Amino acid sequence: MASLEGKTVLVTAAAQGIGRASALAFLAAGARVFATDINEAALAGLPASDALVAARLDVLDGAAVAGFIAGIGPVDVLFNCAGVVHPGGILDMKDEELDFAFDLNVKSMVRTIRAVLPGMVERRAGAIINMSSVASSVKGVPNRCAYSVTKAAVIGLTKSVAADYVAHNIRCNAICPGTVESPSLQERLRAQGDYDTVRAAFIARQPIGRIGTPEEIADLAVYLAGATYTTGQAFAIDGGWVM
Ligand code: NAD
Repeated sequence: MASLEGKTVLVTAAAQGIGRASALAFLAAGARVFATDINEAALAGLPASDALVAARLDVLDGAAVAGFIAGIGPVDVLFNCAGVVHPGGILDMKDEELDFAFDLNVKSMVRTIRAVLPGMVERRAGAIINMSSVASSVKGVPNRCAYSVTKAAVIGLTKSVAADYVAHNIRCNAICPGTVESPSLQERLRAQGDYDTVRAAFIARQPIGRIGTPEEIADLAVYLAGATYTTGQAFAIDGGWVM
């Protein structure tokens, strides 16, 4: 795997779950990491140092995103990890939920990408990694309408940016996990009835027989940061849910 020594990485939603594991994996790969989130209490649990800066950044706030990125200097790798899951099908879905899902799952990425791209173009180098899901254009998953619509849009955004900037040596790829252990997964399991029964059903969807770990997804994020011959792809990492 390529070393990320000397690279600056910006991770959104880095206080917990996949974002946190990825911030730590980028750090272990030698990068200087800006780990951002709105949950400052959880960010405080990261091992802050010169090489790992934890900072509040609300990706819904365009001015804050632009200001933050202007303030930290050149970003070599952007990992857009922020996202929210709304349960329910199309008849349950409120317009406000769909709007919010677009704002947090898609437009947040448009904001961060717009802020880092001019510098990447100038330096003729950069890697952008967007968090999608197999619940998207990859696979129809029941009761995930707002989520799947917006995670499919993430794949469209990824391919569009990849096509427009491949000649500038900037790569843009998407990660499509199956079910991964995280605080929000625990909330979803508890919210849906008997915890053990619901958990068993989630495990049964993954042919590999278990739920993924944030560290397994983080490994793919680090790989994509340095994978200099791939762009415009949506990488499923899902215990065999999609084969
Ligand atoms: P999580 O859902 O437990 O944590 C999400 C983090 O996002 C929290 O720390 C929260 O504070 C932060 N956040 C929320 N709003 C924010 C905002 N406006 N600005 C900045 N940060 C904000 O973590 P997770 O389950 O690992 O999910 C991370 C990403 O992975 C999401 O995009 C999710 O859709 C995607 N994903 C997760 C799974 C899974 O099973 N866990 C599967 C596929 C895709």
